[in-house]
Order: sequence, then structure tokens, then C-alpha cells
Amino acid sequence: MIICYINRLLENFMAKAEVIQNNQVVSMHYTLKDIDGNVIDTSDGQEPLTYLHGAGNIINGLETALVGKAVGDTLTVTVEPKDGYGDASPELVQKVDKKMFEGVEELEAGMVFQVQGDDGQSQRISVKEVGAEDVTVDGNHPLAGMTLKFDVGIVALREASETELEHGHAH
Ligand code: ZN
Repeated sequence: MIICYINRLLENFMAKAEVIQNNQVVSMHYTLKDIDGNVIDTSDGQEPLTYLHGAGNIINGLETALVGKAVGDTLTVTVEPKDGYGDASPELVQKVDKKMFEGVEELEAGMVFQVQGDDGQSQRISVKEVGAEDVTVDGNHPLAGMTLKFDVGIVALREASETELEHGHAH
């Protein structure tokens, strides 16, 4: 009898102590700002972001800061480029022949294209500058080199299913 009672107490304790750790599926609302406080992205008014913790689904700096947090917790996380999207590398800014964009109407700075690299990987590039004959393109992640501020609220937490663990992402 006593053992049953203790087991039940332990179960309750475990349930309450449930916090973010590897192999858990986390749902959270977030607002991402740059260091000047400009909003870059937010889940406000949308479904929360759901990810598999410990699988590298989200940037390292944010994932690390979420360890040990529970449903209802809110936090602000500052992520330096090295723990985010890395530094912007100047080599990824290149001039290419304008002919590469033949067929694109009204090519202008700020446009984003999906291109196939030599290794077959697809990559996003953004147009920096449109010249008479060349176009300057940037293959860096749009958030590379930026210090990011996340306001996060944890809304749900559960164990991942076996399929999710196999796939390395939340379903
Ligand atoms: Zn899957």
C-alpha cells in the first residue's frame, strides 16, 4: 500500500517536473527581433512553432536556452551569430552575368531565388544590385551576421513518437 502511494507521488512529481529535454516535441510562440527591436518574424496570430528538441531543427543558441523550460514559461533569448546563422561570408557575394536571369521580368534588388549549386544542393540567393550587365547576388542566409532576440512562450510539451525520432522532426 505504502509503495503504491509512493509510486503515485513519484508519478505526480515526474509529471510536474516535465521540462524541455532531448526527444521532446515542443510547441512555442515566438517573436524574433533584431538588436534594434525591429520585428523580423513572429508566430503571433498563427499556429505555434512545433519542433523536435535535440535534433537541430532550430538554431543552436535558441535550442540550448530552452533546455529545462516548462509549459507556461516565457523567456527572452539573445543569440549571437555564431550560435545562430553564422557570420556573413563575403565570398558568397558574387557578380554574375545578367543573362542568368533571362526570362525574369523586372529583376530588382531584394528578389530571392532558389538555385541549384554544383553539388546539387539547392540554395537561396538574394539579389543585391542589378547592373547593366551583371547582377550582384548574395548566397548568405538573410539572418547571417545578425544578433537575434527571441521572445518565447512555451505552450506545449510531449514525448516524441518513434517515427518522429526516426525522421528527426516533429509531425
Ligand atoms: Zn517525418
